[in-house]
Amino acid sequence: MKYHFASDNTAGICPEAWQALAEANVGFQPSYGEDAMTLRACEAFREFFETDCDVYFVFNGTAANSLALSTLCQSYHSVIVGDVSHCETDECGAPEFFSNGSKLLLARTEQGKLALEDVERLIGSRTDLHFPKPRGVSLSQSTELGTVYSPAEVTALTDLAHARGLKVHMDGARFFNGLQAAGCTPAEVTWRAGVDVLCCGGTKLGMAVTEAVVFFDRELGAEFAWRCKQAGQLNSKMRFISAQWLTVLQDATWRRYAAHANALARRLAEGMAQLPEVRILYPTQANAVFAALPEATRLGLAERGWKFYQFIGGGCRFMCSWQQTEADVDALLADARSAAGITTG
Ligand SMILES: *Cc1c(COP(=O)(O)O)cnc(C)c1O
Repeated sequence: MKYHFASDNTAGICPEAWQALAEANVGFQPSYGEDAMTLRACEAFREFFETDCDVYFVFNGTAANSLALSTLCQSYHSVIVGDVSHCETDECGAPEFFSNGSKLLLARTEQGKLALEDVERLIGSRTDLHFPKPRGVSLSQSTELGTVYSPAEVTALTDLAHARGLKVHMDGARFFNGLQAAGCTPAEVTWRAGVDVLCCGGTKLGMAVTEAVVFFDRELGAEFAWRCKQAGQLNSKMRFISAQWLTVLQDATWRRYAAHANALARRLAEGMAQLPEVRILYPTQANAVFAALPEATRLGLAERGWKFYQFIGGGCRFMCSWQQTEADVDALLADARSAAGITTG
């Protein structure tokens, strides 16, 4: 089977992160994040975002999202999320579990982005004590459908949320892909645009087992260390996580890999769009391509060993990561052409 395009987490660990793991593997160091490397990694985040944010490392995105969301609300509150959001569709109820029952309210999305007027409708729909009080809004950057919010779009959402007393969470499992595509600074699309807490994804970019939870509103993060520990998310050998972040946060690493994956997705979308009866479903702005493929092409690709997801976004999803090459994209396209019955001379 060829898992190249199934997800960006079917890829391995990028060379820089792998080397950082090896370099951190000397001697003895204080555990549970008390080591010098972890202090430096947190400082690197503050430089990256140009602000005095509070940073924690957890093992995966589900934990990052659900623990971050649980800081926004009491059990009788609710969080507005997109109907296609990972929080709603792919976290097995973890946000509700870790917040002791806070309800997720589903807002309509347009091409993966929260529809502003539907968020507004949900905030105002009920104010009586029989309904869980909305206390947070969660958006994904880049979105589950491979689209990207501009800083202005994020600001429009956070302005609305803050005016009504809600805090804002950004699910950044693919933050770096979104950031590269948005073409702005890390600050501009997060705290300067009003985001209160960001889950900053390392794994899908090419790291081993880590996501950072970044509190721009430091008050929200006040007891987060306890939350992490209780949830089994406090890594005792933290230096191996921190060492990776130190290298990945350098422009030369994150930007190169995010740009690479995004460019491959564009190449793939352009190639797919030229096939007969193929429709690209959403603008290819980050590292995902969603396509409606004729049955023969879809089955033909599967027969030729390509694995891709069909349970997200109403079509076939192809993800690109740091690890694929243009040759991989071209091989997939060649097989798609052959499956569609096109012979090339
Ligand atoms: C992959 C992903 C996550 C995190 O998933 P884990 O498998 O728990 O690491 C969170 N949000 C989005 C949008 C994702 O695509």
